[in-house]
Amino acid sequence: MINIVIFGAPGAGKGTQANLLAERYDFLHISTGDLLRQEVRMQTTVGQRVKAIMDRGDLVGDDIVVSLLDRALRQRSTHPDPDSQEDPWDVERKGKPHRPEGCIIDGFPRTVQQAQTLEFIFNKLNRKINLIVAIDVPRDELVRRIHERATISGRSDDTEEVIRHRLDLYDEQTQPVLDYYRVSGRLTTIDGSGEISGTNGRICQVIDSLIVR
Ligand code: ADP
Repeated sequence: MINIVIFGAPGAGKGTQANLLAERYDFLHISTGDLLRQEVRMQTTVGQRVKAIMDRGDLVGDDIVVSLLDRALRQRSTHPDPDSQEDPWDVERKGKPHRPEGCIIDGFPRTVQQAQTLEFIFNKLNRKINLIVAIDVPRDELVRRIHERATISGRSDDTEEVIRHRLDLYDEQTQPVLDYYRVSGRLTTIDGSGEISGTNGRICQVIDSLIVR
C-alpha cells in the first residue's frame, strides 16, 4: 500500500499524471478540484457555495474541502458505510475483492494547514503518506499550457486574470507546503516540462523503486 500526494502549480499536469498513475498502479485517485467541480455541476448546497470562489481562483474553505476529501477516502474505497469501523480499503464488494494498491491525491494539500490536516486524516486511517511528487514546470510554460487548455477545457477559472491569480496563490500559499514535506524526506521533485510520457516515465521510476524496496 503506497499513498502519494501529487503536487504542482496549475498547468503542471498533476491531474493528467494522477490519472495515468491511478490506471497503471490501481490507485484510488482523488482530485479535490474534480470533487468540487462535481458539486458545482450537481448544484448541491456545497456547489452553490463554492462556485463563485472557484471562478475567482480563490481557495475554497478547509471545512468544505476536508469533508469532501474525507468522504472520498472512505466512499471511493468501495465501502458502503462511511461510519463503519472496518478497514474501508479491504472490503469485498459483490464477491469481488477490490484492494487498491494505494491512493493518489491531487489538489490537496494547498496550504501548510491542509498538509497537517492530511497527516491527521491518514493517522486516523492507520495509513501514511509515503511519497510527495512535486511536478516542476517553468512559469512561462505553465501560462502557455493553461491558455491552450482554456480553449478546450471550458473551465470557468481558465481566464487570463484568474489564471494569474491562481499562480500567485500557488506561489504564496502552496509553495511553502513543499518545505513542510522536504524536511520529512518524502519529497521528490520531477521535471514536468516537455512531453506527458516523459514526465510519467520519471514519476514511475520513483514509484517502482519504492514498490521494489
Ligand atoms: P488547478 O491546479 O489547475 O488550480 P484544481 O482542479 O486542482 O486546478 O483546482 C481548481 C480550484 O478548486 C482551485 O482554484 C480552488 O478554487 C479549488 N480547490 C481545489 N483544491 C483545493 C484545496 N485543497 N483547497 C482549497 N481550494 C481548492
